[in-house]
Amino acid sequence: MEKIKAVALMSGGLDSMLATKVVEKLGIEVYGINFYTGFCITEQRRRVDGAKSSASKKKLENAALKSAAEIEIPVEIVDISEEYLKMVTNPRHGYGSNVNPCIDCRIHMLREAHKYMQKIGAQFIVTGEVVGQRPMSQHKNTMRMIEKEAGVAGLVLRPLSAKLLEPTIPEKNGLVDREALYAIGGRGRNPQMRLARELGIAVFPNPGGGCCFLTDQTYAERFFDLMKHREQKTLTMEDVVRLRLGRHFRIKETHKIIIGRNEAENDLIEKYAGENMAIIKATVEKGPVGLIEGIFEDCDIVLAAAITAGYGKAKNMDSVEFEIITGSVRRVMNIKPVDPQLYSKFIIQHQVK
Ligand code: SF4
Repeated sequence: MEKIKAVALMSGGLDSMLATKVVEKLGIEVYGINFYTGFCITEQRRRVDGAKSSASKKKLENAALKSAAEIEIPVEIVDISEEYLKMVTNPRHGYGSNVNPCIDCRIHMLREAHKYMQKIGAQFIVTGEVVGQRPMSQHKNTMRMIEKEAGVAGLVLRPLSAKLLEPTIPEKNGLVDREALYAIGGRGRNPQMRLARELGIAVFPNPGGGCCFLTDQTYAERFFDLMKHREQKTLTMEDVVRLRLGRHFRIKETHKIIIGRNEAENDLIEKYAGENMAIIKATVEKGPVGLIEGIFEDCDIVLAAAITAGYGKAKNMDSVEFEIITGSVRRVMNIKPVDPQLYSKFIIQHQVK
């Protein structure tokens, strides 16, 4: 008899580990799948910043690979970042409390999982979703609507909340024993912790870790600011990286200044500078690196360099020598530092009300 196969969406978090393990324990062959959207916090840092986190110097690991290894399930990483960039700038179902298009994101992932399911001849999809855990995408009606739009109605098994939901096709067909599934709902974590102990899962990430930059308040402010000031409402992977780096100042409508907060950010700001942007860096000693993106004149570069200098060790000097790099053109300017506090009201960040 042919084995029953399922595809499990593995985020790297505990819930998807539990859901996958529950199904695997029923004798079903489970194949994990993880999507790289470009906005996953750890994975973007791992790919862009290198193997080590600049803050902790700890080795960064792919969360899905790590969690799949812990529960001994094969997992495939699928890069959907190109399509995802288009979706993020114009989600059909709008954004959550920040710039997180969770409904469109789930639809997109389920569509991709469905393709994978068909490719490997699996019968259904497994997710670690828990009814009522997330405000935007994990209400019963929303889950139904997401499935329908993704073309997978009835094919998504959510083992942790299954008994709170209508039976799915694999349950109705007898592929999955509904009695072996759970009725976990809401935002509490105790049932999941208990289940992890029962299933012998000892290593899993902290649930409060946050899965993507799109739920970050300051990231969202910067994203909306960029879209507002950009004629073409499109986004590149370089934008996605720059949006999380440094301090962002919008002093004039025509351009934005980004200033690095540490050495790792300074290196990345330089590396991810776009063609028509100006990189601003002190020539004599290591200090913050600045970047201007947009339309700017020399007076704007001077102010950007002065603020950049104000964050450096030479902030009390009368003049600091800066190199300004625009494409292949390099020139040197002497700049008097200014106190960055004078410009703090122009910083694009989440304001606590
Ligand atoms: S939090 Fe991010 S990854 Fe998770 S569903 Fe929402 S947009 Fe997608």
